[in-house]
Amino acid sequence: VHNEWNEREAARFAGPLGECVYGSRVIGSNPDLVLHGGGNTSVKMAFADITGEDIPALYVKGSGWDLASIEPAGFTPLPITRLRALLELDALSDPDMMRELSAARLDPTAPQPSVETLLHAYLPYTAVQHSHADAIVTLTNVADGAALVRQVFGDSVVVIPYVMPGFDLAKRVVELWPQQVHEDTVGMVLLNHGLFTFGDTTRQAYHRHVDLISMAEEWLDSNAPPRPDADTSPETADPLILAGLRREISEAAGAPMIMTRHSDATVAGFVARPDLAGLACRGPLTPDHVIRTKRHPMVGRDVAAYTAGYARYFEENADRARTDLRPIDPAPRVVLDPGLGMLAVGRTVKAAAVAADIYRHTIPVLERAEDHLGGYVALDAGDLFDVEYWDLEQAKLSLAGPPPPFAGMVGVVTGAASGIGRACAAELLDRGCAVVGLDIHPDTADAFDTTAWLGARVDVTDAAAVRAAVRAGVERFGGVDVAVVAAGIFEGSAPIAELDAEIWRKVHAINVDSVMSLFVELHPFLCRSPVGGRVGVIGSKNVPAPGKGAAAYSSSKAALTQLCRIAALEWAADGIRVNLVHPDGVFDTGLWTEGLLAERAARYGLTVEEYKRRNLLGAEITSADVAAVVADLCSDRYRATTGAQIPIDGGNERVV
Ligand SMILES: [Zn+2]
Repeated sequence: VHNEWNEREAARFAGPLGECVYGSRVIGSNPDLVLHGGGNTSVKMAFADITGEDIPALYVKGSGWDLASIEPAGFTPLPITRLRALLELDALSDPDMMRELSAARLDPTAPQPSVETLLHAYLPYTAVQHSHADAIVTLTNVADGAALVRQVFGDSVVVIPYVMPGFDLAKRVVELWPQQVHEDTVGMVLLNHGLFTFGDTTRQAYHRHVDLISMAEEWLDSNAPPRPDADTSPETADPLILAGLRREISEAAGAPMIMTRHSDATVAGFVARPDLAGLACRGPLTPDHVIRTKRHPMVGRDVAAYTAGYARYFEENADRARTDLRPIDPAPRVVLDPGLGMLAVGRTVKAAAVAADIYRHTIPVLERAEDHLGGYVALDAGDLFDVEYWDLEQAKLSLAGPPPPFAGMVGVVTGAASGIGRACAAELLDRGCAVVGLDIHPDTADAFDTTAWLGARVDVTDAAAVRAAVRAGVERFGGVDVAVVAAGIFEGSAPIAELDAEIWRKVHAINVDSVMSLFVELHPFLCRSPVGGRVGVIGSKNVPAPGKGAAAYSSSKAALTQLCRIAALEWAADGIRVNLVHPDGVFDTGLWTEGLLAERAARYGLTVEEYKRRNLLGAEITSADVAAVVADLCSDRYRATTGAQIPIDGGNERVV
């Protein structure tokens, strides 16, 4: 591992806490050391009390903070004397420990301190760093991890057998530490868990961290070389199989799930192994991965067998807890299949990405231990159950709050880079939906800055391009639950007698024909939606109330409306709802420039302001208003509505 300490950068962070913040970011931003909320750090220094007294304190990482982006406010100050007094107790339950730690905070606005606080308090050094480095867990997840650690590090580290994190682990360290420590001790290896290093400064603790991991890496490179990348090229997967599998997994989870496919060389080589099922199902590298990936992946596609296995694991271990446990959903978070590669599953795009990142680091460790170190050995099911069902681990997940209403759902939006389509995409993203956006606009790929967005520059009349974009969306997110049709043009403002046939055809090609072929493409995916497909279509006030001079546009929207009504009839049996909105006078789109608005207003003898509100309610109508109604129609609230046409026009005498 490369030493990333930069003296110049470090100097920008003042004092021991600043150095600890910098050192935390350095280990936190290396995924070979720390992944997604894993690891923790601390520094011991005085806390300046309001009375002027200096209280010897431990500043330890608070929960909810990621080391890679931590700030001084992410560290919780606690009085050392109180922490060491708690360590004198013979036993302390987790809830009691967390209550005492919470109450001991010197700043009540600081976050809840790490569950490893007491261990950090015990270690007799100013600065402490803890990671779950890949190289260290490779050495310790084998039959005799302690012997291997000794072989690599000699007696320069203290070795602690696996104990569940928390009070019991701290007590075990208190017991074993004095037997092993000496003046050249530079670190502590927790078997099946990770590495601690320490020093007078964070700089020293970090350098020791890097030195020990580098030693382990060098040893592994000569004794357990990584498998060369497979030359298998990533296969394509049948998107309908993916969507069907996502539906089964979502049903097992009791909620729609995002499912992302990965098929790079590392994955391709791993899923091709003949011993895949046996090797992949032994357990995670370090216990806190269990809440992100479950105890083991699903190998193959038999969701029923996986959920039955999970139920059995729960039954067999539930009595380990002292309280009544509610089973966590039995759906897999990682799927390994020789034909599909790796599928990462989560309630959100972020959760699926975390599971994928963790498993991507898991694969090489499993392979090196299995192929060169006598076999990969993980913790047994009971130990992992204790962590999976530990309140303090589950609390990490609930810190994010309840999932948003569209969490786990996937939408396809056409015309998504501008105007009403963009507003619809924004609204869906805002409600937690992943969105595959199609638009002819050159910046479509970057229209939104979030991993829940997959934008494709596509001409909706190009059926092959639309098909490719939808399929890319299924690879990325697992399926399609929502479709919003917003792509459309308003051209050919001319009396019928003067209408250009070419323009007539173009308007119909974009406004109707493209929707027909989009529907053909989307139908099998909407059928496989775990929540029932939902389609929202942007029609026009011109359908119920056409005007002179807009024959091409009005007739195309009327044909679109009829297409949607028939889709509502035909697809109801598939659980798919199709609804339309008919907006009018939406002026905050690219179509309407200040100049055009002024010209139109003048034609009616109105001010621009009056012209914009030319409706019964005198309301100004925005694309966000339209998007809110479309998203509502696609929500569970309208679960019993299909074939509806809703005006969004401020009230129009010819429509009412
Ligand atoms: Zn840890």
